[in-house]
Amino acid sequence: MSTSYLIRGARILGHTPADILIRDGEIAEIAPGLDAPTAQEIDGSGLIALPGLVDLHTHLREPGREDAETVESGTRAAARGGYTAVFAMANTSPVADTAGVVEQVLRLGAQAGYCDVHPVGAVTRGLEGKQLAELGAMADSAARVRVFSDDGHCVDDAVIMRRALEYVKAFDGVVAQHAQEPRLTEGAQMNEGVMSGRLGLHGWPAVAEEAIVARDCLLAAHVGSRLHVCHVSTAGSVEIIRWAKGKGWQVTAEVTPHHLLLDDTLAGSYDPIYKVNPPLRTKDDVRALREALADGTIDCVATDHAPHTLETKETEWAEATMGMVGLETALSVVQEAMVDTGLLDWAGVADRMSYRPARIGRLNGQGRTLDQGSPANITLYDPRPRALVDPSGFASKSRNTPYRGRELPGRVVATFLRGRPTVLDGGLVPNFSTSGATR
Ligand SMILES: [Zn+2]
Repeated sequence: MSTSYLIRGARILGHTPADILIRDGEIAEIAPGLDAPTAQEIDGSGLIALPGLVDLHTHLREPGREDAETVESGTRAAARGGYTAVFAMANTSPVADTAGVVEQVLRLGAQAGYCDVHPVGAVTRGLEGKQLAELGAMADSAARVRVFSDDGHCVDDAVIMRRALEYVKAFDGVVAQHAQEPRLTEGAQMNEGVMSGRLGLHGWPAVAEEAIVARDCLLAAHVGSRLHVCHVSTAGSVEIIRWAKGKGWQVTAEVTPHHLLLDDTLAGSYDPIYKVNPPLRTKDDVRALREALADGTIDCVATDHAPHTLETKETEWAEATMGMVGLETALSVVQEAMVDTGLLDWAGVADRMSYRPARIGRLNGQGRTLDQGSPANITLYDPRPRALVDPSGFASKSRNTPYRGRELPGRVVATFLRGRPTVLDGGLVPNFSTSGATR
C-alpha cells in the first residue's frame, strides 16, 4: 500500500485554506480539519495548491544530446519546477519521426518516473519538411502521440502543412507549428528593430512569424483541423490568433515565460544567454503577450526548455546556439510577470499552466481540477520568498538560464505525481516505483 499524505491548510488555487488527503494515488478528500492519523502530514500553511503543471513544449535532448540533457535529468528539472507532465519535442537525434523513437522516449520517461513524458512526433521525416513522417504509426504506438511538430524548424511548405493538418484529424491530433518563414530569417540573430540596428546584428522581423501564423490559421480553417502555435512572440501574431479564434477556428497558442518577462534591449549586453528562437522582442510585444495570456487569446504557458552545453552557449553572439532552460524557473517567472502584476490570479495560473495545455495535448489524467477522486497530481508553491536564481542548484544538466543572479519570487515546495511525491521540502525524492505515463 502506498503512503497517504495529509496536506494541512494549503490554499487551493489561492483560495481559503483546506486540508487535502492523498490516498492510493488519488485525492481522497478535501475539507478543513481533516483527520487521518496514519497519513504523513505536510504543513501547507501559506502555500498555494495547484494542479500539477503540464508543459506542451520541452526539449529533453535524448536520444542524441545526452551531454546537454537526458530524459531523466530533464524530468527531474520538470518535477522541481512543479510539472507532472511534459511533452518532449521531436528534434532529437535520431529524430522522433517513427513509432520506435517515440516509444523509446516514452519508456525512458517511465523509467525515470519523475514526470509523465509524452513524446511529440515529427511532422516530416528527419524534420526536413519534404515528406510526412509516420504520423499514423506514432499515433497508434504505445506513446499514443497526439501532438506533432517539427519544432526548431518551420513546416514552411504549404502543401505539406495542409496534408499534416488533414492527416491528424483522423486521431484528433494537433500540429504545433514553429512559425518562422525561413527566407525572411536567413542569418537572423535577434529581433529586427531599433536595437538590431544599433547593435549591427542581422534582424529577425516580426512578419517572418506573423506571415506563417496567418497562413496556418487559414489552412487549419480550410481543412477543419487543429493548429497550435508554438512560442508566440509578437503583438501582430496575437492579433491574428485573436481574429482566428473569433471566427471559431480550432487555433490554440502558447507563450514562453521568457517572452513574458524579457525584451530585446538585453541583446545590448551581447551576452548570448539572451539569444533564443524566436528572439526576445520589444517591450510593446511583451505587454501584448501578457494581455493575451490574461484574456485567454494565448491559451497557455509553455517553457520551450532548451538545454545547451556551455561550449555551444559561451561563445560569440553570432556563433552561439539559440535557447534557454526554463522548467525550474517557469512558475516564478509567471508569478513575476502575471500574478504580481495583477493580470492573472492563481486560478488563472492553474488554467494556463495545467488545464489548457493538458486539453490541447488530449491528456485525461493530467490538468484536472483538484477535486475528490481526481488523480493526485498536485504542486505546492510558496509565493512569498524572493531569491537570486542560482543555476548551480538546477537539476537540469544545462545551466543556460537568462535569470542567473536575478531575483525572482516563489519556490516549489512539493510536487505529487499520482499521489507519490517527486519533490518534498523543495528537494527531489528518489524514485522507487514506475507506473509510467497514462492518458
Ligand atoms: Zn521552436
